[in-house]
Amino acid sequence: MNPDKKEIVVALAGNPNSGKTTLFNNLTGANQHVGNYPGVTVESKVGVAEYNGLRFRFVDLPGTYSLSAYSIEEIIARNAIIQGKPDVVVNIVDASNLERNLYLTTQIVELGMPVIIALNMADMAKRRGFLIDHDLLSHLLGVPVIPTVGNKRRGMDNLLESISRVAKGEVNPQPSIVKFGKEMEQELAGLGDLISRDPGVMNGYKPRWLALKLMENDAEVAKLLSKHPHIKDIVNAAKESGSKIEAIYGEPTSTIISDKRYGFISGACSEATKLTGEHRHDISDKIDLALIHPILGLPIFALFMWLLFHLTFSLGEKPMEWIEAGITALANFLSASMPEGMLSSLLIDGVIGGVGGVIVFLPNIMILFFCIALLEDTGYMARAAFVMDRIMHKIGLHGKSFIPMLIGFGCTVPAYMGSRILEDRTDRLVTMHVSTFMSCGARLPVYILVGGAFWPEHAGNVVFSIYALGVVAAIVAVKFLRSTRFKGMSAQFIMELPPYRVPTLRSLLLHMWERAWMYVRKAGTVILGISIIMWFLMTFPQTKTFSTDYEALIEETDVSMSEGLIGAGERDSMVSQYENEMASESISRSFAGRLGKLVEPVLKPLGFDWKLGVALIAGFAAKEVVVSTMGNVYGVGEADETSESLRSKLSSDPNYSKLTAYAFLVFVLLYMPCMAALAVFLKESKSWKELAFQIGYTGALAWIAAFVIYQGGSLLGLG
Ligand code: GDP
Ligand code: MG
Repeated sequence: MNPDKKEIVVALAGNPNSGKTTLFNNLTGANQHVGNYPGVTVESKVGVAEYNGLRFRFVDLPGTYSLSAYSIEEIIARNAIIQGKPDVVVNIVDASNLERNLYLTTQIVELGMPVIIALNMADMAKRRGFLIDHDLLSHLLGVPVIPTVGNKRRGMDNLLESISRVAKGEVNPQPSIVKFGKEMEQELAGLGDLISRDPGVMNGYKPRWLALKLMENDAEVAKLLSKHPHIKDIVNAAKESGSKIEAIYGEPTSTIISDKRYGFISGACSEATKLTGEHRHDISDKIDLALIHPILGLPIFALFMWLLFHLTFSLGEKPMEWIEAGITALANFLSASMPEGMLSSLLIDGVIGGVGGVIVFLPNIMILFFCIALLEDTGYMARAAFVMDRIMHKIGLHGKSFIPMLIGFGCTVPAYMGSRILEDRTDRLVTMHVSTFMSCGARLPVYILVGGAFWPEHAGNVVFSIYALGVVAAIVAVKFLRSTRFKGMSAQFIMELPPYRVPTLRSLLLHMWERAWMYVRKAGTVILGISIIMWFLMTFPQTKTFSTDYEALIEETDVSMSEGLIGAGERDSMVSQYENEMASESISRSFAGRLGKLVEPVLKPLGFDWKLGVALIAGFAAKEVVVSTMGNVYGVGEADETSESLRSKLSSDPNYSKLTAYAFLVFVLLYMPCMAALAVFLKESKSWKELAFQIGYTGALAWIAAFVIYQGGSLLGLG
């Protein structure tokens, strides 16, 4: 290391769930979510630490199993190592899954940076019955190997010590590089020579590595080298080398490469590890007998989900009422202390009606995401993925599709991005087309509002049924897509089952907090903005002349009272009815009202009136907006503002029955994803045609499903 350079840059690389983030937090003290599901850490995080007078800068790279260019994580990780030029790469290895983890190690080592292995989860390895001789392993791999137990902070000082010695040049790791056999090495050397003819375009990459990647058909490297002045020769040479090797071995080059890697690892592992027999089948395996049972697995998963929504409701009810009461009090206070007029209407009907309507559901959101974090951190989510994988494959989806779909329960945007883990474009498109049916967090407030309003006793069941219906819709859609536009079958996929763990409360709370904060932030920005816009659209143009002369009617009522024909109470209720009629007439003639009326004919067969139409249109911006818009509609559309909660206003609206409510929920579940998601869809699919298809078929499906429910239900007399 350059002696006057102050900071030692350390990159933390490893498989998902190897404990990178845990070590990163231990070393830097930074807060970060400690999840248990593959693919949670997508961005790299940076933190600094001091040790023995040295300053370290740690970079937490995304977790990957390999450094090919199949996923964005892999590309990020390898670019961070090659271009970020860290002084030391710490490869965190899960000792209880040594073979699989070392596959990445062989590839990191090839990049030619000083590497240290943190042999993490040493405790788990022991419990699973592996005894690892880390000195021997270090000798075999040619790099320092430091045993650590991340969650107990064990081995941190040794690790820092080793990092500083490597950085200072006191220890100079000589990693053993996997050799791919005489013929292959010859080809690699030849290709490497060709590539190194112009070092300018190599950008820090080693020629052998570039040659190797080229032979593995790495798209990123092909792109990088496309600027090379000798690209034609290189491409031809690579093709020739490839066919030579394939002729010799009778297998694709990439298979030969990975076979050699596994062979190397398996050799190193059998040298350096011993099994202590009796521990091999640990508790995890026993639990798995039930949880991933071929028949019981699915009902157990469904039961967990059902419990999830019940808890979300029953525990959320009280805090929700408190927030509701607080918001009502605030609105009452404002309407009492402000002169009636535009400003008070904007604040009360626009801002409080809209944002307040959404913020009420914060407790439910927090509970739901706490429970999801619990399922993730214990390791159950991976089992759910496993159980679903079998079904996925039966219906024609790649098992890996379950990961983006699972992410879709949080938000459709990362779900679309997550579909990148699928290598095949057809698989990717099918997954993207259906992952929108996984109910995202933004749709939950709509379900809670409508479910709570119309089924106060059974809201949990109703919401569970909508989530389940989403999954069913996805399955049906896959079947449909696979038999029409995207024919073919996809490959089987081996799922990882990390051992069960007792999660830390801190990690659960952190995850919940991240979600809650996101929700509050969205309410304070997007929802606030749209609520104000919706208020304008609902308030203007203002109605000057009404169908009935309400002013005269009110005057008449006053006269009747003064003549003693009616009492004061009667007068007040009549006047407030007139005022309500005025307000609802004026909102129905506003811009929003006209828009709603415009779409009403299309929605009429579903039992929806123009108000629901407006809410659905506004919901394109973000699904929570369906709720905030209903808040606006009832705020602007009624003269007496605030005495009731939005839920009771909705349930007492004579236009809506339980049947309308359910049809509406199903429509919200199925109709097109929000604007942000559509933008990402376009970016990921790079196809306007697919985007148009996505919008069209989700819309059509939503309409048909709501139609069947409403009309079918009415026929059966359920309305
Ligand atoms: P990452 O995906 O590589 O960032 O992994 P995390 O740091 O999120 O760790 C995944 C899980 O493993 C968390 O629940 C950690 O608490 C746990 N963990 C980390 N290190 C150890 C360890 O050495 N032993 C055990 N038993 N658990 C660990
Ligand atoms: Mg992590």
